[in-house]
Amino acid sequence: MEKRRVTVKTSPCPNCGAMGSLRRIVWGLPAQAIDLEKFAIGGCCIPENPPELACTECPWSGHRGHLLSREPDINTHSDSDT
Ligand SMILES: [Zn+2]
Repeated sequence: MEKRRVTVKTSPCPNCGAMGSLRRIVWGLPAQAIDLEKFAIGGCCIPENPPELACTECPWSGHRGHLLSREPDINTHSDSDT
């Protein structure tokens, strides 16, 4: 069985394009010491829609889905055309 895994290490930041700058955000207090090469501490105040990933090179944070979907935003569909 093929397991498709997108590693944050090999994905560029969607905002600044830096490679290997993405860290998985750990929310709350980690139960054990975490590897800061892979993770970022989100803090103990978890926002309503907490992002999963954060970039260390820029203030970007967001979800893994942002890395997977390379499609342009189709929400900006204009039907005012003739
Ligand atoms: Zn970035």
